Amino acid sequence: MFSLGPHCIGVPASLPEFMEQSGCTIVKYLDPPADMNLPKTEITIGRVHWLSEDKDLSDPIWMAKLHADELSARADVTGIRLWEGINEAPIWNGEDYIRRLVIYEQERARILNSRGIGAVVLNLSVGWPRELEDGIIDWEPFRELLEDLPDGNYLGLHEYWLPTGPLHPDSHLCRAGRLFRCPFSVPILVTECGCDIGGGQHDGWRAQGLSVEQYVTQLAQYRDLLAGDSRVKGATIFTYGTVGQWQSFDWESNWFQFAPICQPVSAEVEVRNPIRLLYQGEVLTVELEDYLRSVVPAESEALWNMEALRAQAVASRSYSMWRKEHPRSDSFDLYADSRDHNYRPDFIHGRTDQAIKDTVGIHLLQNGKVYVSRYVRHCGREDCSLCNGTGGFDDKTWLARLCQYGSRAMADSGSSYRDILRHYYGNIQFSDEGGSMPDNPGTVTLDKYLRPADGSRLGLHWTPVPGHAHSDLTYFIDRAADMGVRWVTLLDDGGGSTLQSSAFYDNKSIVDMFMEVDIIPIIRIYCHPLAKFDARFENTAGRLVERGVRWIFGPNEPECRGEYDDGHVPTDYVYKCTRNFINWAYKLEALGAYPGYFATTTWRFMNENGTRVNPFLEYMSEQERQDIFIHGHGWIPIHNYPKNHPLDFPDDAVNQFGKQLTDAEYQTKLNEVDVTYRQVSGSLWVWDSYQTNASHINLVRDRGINAGATIDDDDVCFRMYQGINRLLDEAGLLPYVPIISTEIGPCIGNREDGRYARVTPQEQIRMVDAMLAEANQVPNYFGMTFWLAGVQRLDAATADGFEDQSLWTDRHNAPFNLQGEIPLVQYLIDNPGGGELPPPEPIEPPEEPAMPEPECDNDAVAYGVVVEPAIVPGGVLYWKCIRVHHLEQHENNGNHNVFVNVYDEDGKRVNPDKARVSIWWQDGQDFIPLDKPDHEPMGNAPLWKGQVVGVRVESELDSDRVMNIHTNHDDEPPGNTRFHHSYLIEFQLVMKAEDPELEAPIGNGCNLILGAIVKLLESWIKA
Ligand SMILES: [Zn+2]
Repeated sequence: MFSLGPHCIGVPASLPEFMEQSGCTIVKYLDPPADMNLPKTEITIGRVHWLSEDKDLSDPIWMAKLHADELSARADVTGIRLWEGINEAPIWNGEDYIRRLVIYEQERARILNSRGIGAVVLNLSVGWPRELEDGIIDWEPFRELLEDLPDGNYLGLHEYWLPTGPLHPDSHLCRAGRLFRCPFSVPILVTECGCDIGGGQHDGWRAQGLSVEQYVTQLAQYRDLLAGDSRVKGATIFTYGTVGQWQSFDWESNWFQFAPICQPVSAEVEVRNPIRLLYQGEVLTVELEDYLRSVVPAESEALWNMEALRAQAVASRSYSMWRKEHPRSDSFDLYADSRDHNYRPDFIHGRTDQAIKDTVGIHLLQNGKVYVSRYVRHCGREDCSLCNGTGGFDDKTWLARLCQYGSRAMADSGSSYRDILRHYYGNIQFSDEGGSMPDNPGTVTLDKYLRPADGSRLGLHWTPVPGHAHSDLTYFIDRAADMGVRWVTLLDDGGGSTLQSSAFYDNKSIVDMFMEVDIIPIIRIYCHPLAKFDARFENTAGRLVERGVRWIFGPNEPECRGEYDDGHVPTDYVYKCTRNFINWAYKLEALGAYPGYFATTTWRFMNENGTRVNPFLEYMSEQERQDIFIHGHGWIPIHNYPKNHPLDFPDDAVNQFGKQLTDAEYQTKLNEVDVTYRQVSGSLWVWDSYQTNASHINLVRDRGINAGATIDDDDVCFRMYQGINRLLDEAGLLPYVPIISTEIGPCIGNREDGRYARVTPQEQIRMVDAMLAEANQVPNYFGMTFWLAGVQRLDAATADGFEDQSLWTDRHNAPFNLQGEIPLVQYLIDNPGGGELPPPEPIEPPEEPAMPEPECDNDAVAYGVVVEPAIVPGGVLYWKCIRVHHLEQHENNGNHNVFVNVYDEDGKRVNPDKARVSIWWQDGQDFIPLDKPDHEPMGNAPLWKGQVVGVRVESELDSDRVMNIHTNHDDEPPGNTRFHHSYLIEFQLVMKAEDPELEAPIGNGCNLILGAIVKLLESWIKA
């Protein structure tokens, strides 16, 4: 394990929290205070400033003792047991100074060790020791110190990079990663690192304009670089918690963003490409790139021309990879001698290490397969400029082998390692060149892709994890075949997990089993969104192609933060992932696979400035589009989950006009849920809550109208695919590029948008059928692999969170009276392949826009009648008093009544079951029945002498209140006299006009539901 950690100046207040959050295993203090409670971790380093800057070594032994005594005293008061001495010693002073420095460090370590304290020695500044010719670092003067360094001590180095980052050629191996060229087996601590252009106080990352995000990315790259060298035990980032000087280097103020990259990195992940080696009678398992460090100097001479060493590195790498596929025995891949490669760890050399680093991962291919690149000292070939047809090893002529001495001769006369390898091996490709397109490439139109003979679009995404070990697999695969499934998306762990043969199934792999029943596998290589197509993936993809697999893709939903370890989506992910795809695509195409773009849930791609982009036009050259999409087999995986939106969302009438849910529709949905379940659980399931009724849903619908919305505004829907096709069309690619939904719903239980019902099994069947039917009409929409066959029952229980999205699950048994299988399965078995068009729904004209809220016409103001408005937010339905009328003499005829009418939204007399009117007075209340025939007002109540009444409508909606109604008014003969006055009061259901100040933005369905519920509660509370 190793980690990055803080280089502290003092003890910043945030330090304990940072260390706890990150779990970092290293911390360094410059001038730590005398406090035994300083935060410490596995490796805690101290440095005393005055002492470390005291670099006069005229008497190194005396100086070592002086320093060791001071450091011992500091150790006693701080509890720190590991100390640096002289910092960035001026070894440019020459050999004599270096000799004294070595003596100083040996003596300092000796004294400290005798007191149980460790030493970090040298702590050389970036770029030192000096570099000799041919890339050799001048470590020789330090050999005695470092080879004999006792346990508990470390070599300290400073590594800094330029603002272009640690991987940029100007930084990598000159500034960052230079420690790889140290030839000694010694534990290494990087005691300072970071971005620095010149070592001055104002040369740090902040002053260079790097964003926090960019710098964190650089540090993560550096961490990954270090992870390749098991000697490195930790690195401290300069500098944490500083005021005034060095502030341009400080990162404490952003510590929270740096914590994730300071988490410990396990050394085990380094072995990505293990080689099993029979060495001195034992089988060693070593990482390929590490293995080569002991092979290349044993097979070549470390002082040969670098190009010859690079050729040797690539040839040895390719041969080793080939041997891995063709192992010498069940228990090991290679011999450690000339039967395969000579293996000599004692020969490790900085120059051969350099050649291996320079060509890391690069290997040779022939016809898409790893090339068995053999070699020989002297080839004896006629076309070898050195051998000229004579002198071959064992007096033979070795065709198709690299001539090692011939290689050196070619390198000396200026050939590159690629020239050399091509010369001796002939028709080979380099793995990083992505192969070559045919000289006269044809055009790969949609009919040139492997797809089901019947054109079926129906597929399944199998499980959410790589690895498929279930002993019942055949049952589920047979069931899928009976459904007419013709596509299946499988997750491969990148190392060929989908190709692993299982003794349980006659040594067949899961890929074999699906192909046997004519189901086309689509392989998603499980990887980080920004993963490179490395040798391991290449090896896996090559083997998949060999088995007949074509459809392969890797990076998944890079727009989603869950795909990143630190939960952070790079703002330029579209650019990065598109450029990465090009690299993947060339390599996959060269292997004979169909390269998939990254799988995406959106077509609304943005650049780092938040501006919409078409990546196919803006991030790919015309040549790349032709190579990959027109003359190659590029395709696009999409995840257009509809959630609980209807197929035609966002164009549907609910979203556009707030189309109302009728009671019949409400009940029909309800009836899809098992009645016993509803009675026993008290849950409606489909509408969430037993308190919900159609009116409540309609409130939410009224509130959530998105008139005019398109997939430009909201693409969380099935029709997202139309957006992708629009981008393809703009780039002239539509006739050439298939799209496949490698994940898609709906899943039972989806209810992201409160305006629509929860997805029931019946609704799922309707949707799946309709989606397949629509895809059947879209030439480049090749398939949709519905999420998800299974989790627990397919032995993918590590992803239990997805269990209720399975076809085969017990999760939905109760609400739908099922037995572990979703009805979609049997439906598709009865209708294989699906895609039957459902009977067309009656086309309803768009509803008229809602009437503006009417004014209240109150002609009884002079009689003291007051209308007290309901307090409801904009967009909410309520009962508004639209008219108060004091009856004229000829209308009243001596009566003393309140007459009421209540109208619905359309101005029709309301259904009396939906609302009633209450009337109250000083000491009582009653309801006014709305039971009168059509030729008179719907209801009335008498007004007695002395009574002062109010009326309102009673329902779950709020209502205006009409107050201060009484008959104590003067005579108005002939019909109205004191205590003989009457009023007509009319209410109508209307939507409260929007008050812009109260309006909250509406985002996704969640906000929508929440907003509506809050408003509903408000209206109830106020009522
Ligand atoms: Zn030769």
